[in-house]
Amino acid sequence: MARCVARELVERSGVDAERLVDLLVERALGEIGNYYYYTLLRMHLVGVEGDLLRRVVDDAREEDRNHFEVLIPRIYELGGRLPATFTGELGPLGGLRNLPAEADVPEILPVLLRSAEESVRAYTHLCGITSGKDHRTYNIALAILHEEIAHQVWFLEFLGRGVAEQQIRHPRAISPFVTQFLQSQRVSAFQSHSFPA
Ligand code: ZN
Repeated sequence: MARCVARELVERSGVDAERLVDLLVERALGEIGNYYYYTLLRMHLVGVEGDLLRRVVDDAREEDRNHFEVLIPRIYELGGRLPATFTGELGPLGGLRNLPAEADVPEILPVLLRSAEESVRAYTHLCGITSGKDHRTYNIALAILHEEIAHQVWFLEFLGRGVAEQQIRHPRAISPFVTQFLQSQRVSAFQSHSFPA
């Protein structure tokens, strides 16, 4: 592998870079898997309850796509890469693959909640192993963690309160924590593509 300064710095600070990259790749695949299965799911959510859940799923779906986007540059900075082909389960929402035409909301909610809990656990772990050592990965993982906790709360609220109160849920802006990293990516892409030497 070519010499990779970011990776050397991370290793020097006491982080197992190989393990870190593996975890980041796993998360990136989990995020894009969520995006995929949320996309499938939203086509099967019908009726009043399904319609309300779809609004929550749509927000989570957009944020998980953003999580994928902000993880990728860090993986490559650390000398890692995404697998060229992928065979296997894309995250814990794979159980939603064979949905009936009308998805059963009470049956699906625990699956969504479990997946959100798994994400919260994974990003908490990533924060733990990078805290005080790899500031950049830590900041990205922490920003995603805030949003994963919000997803968990949304699904818990849906599970606990019933449909009536979902109608008064106040949506927030998409990716309030992760947007800063998306914006800095756009700026660096602009700089590298717009001003050729
Ligand atoms: Zn996510």
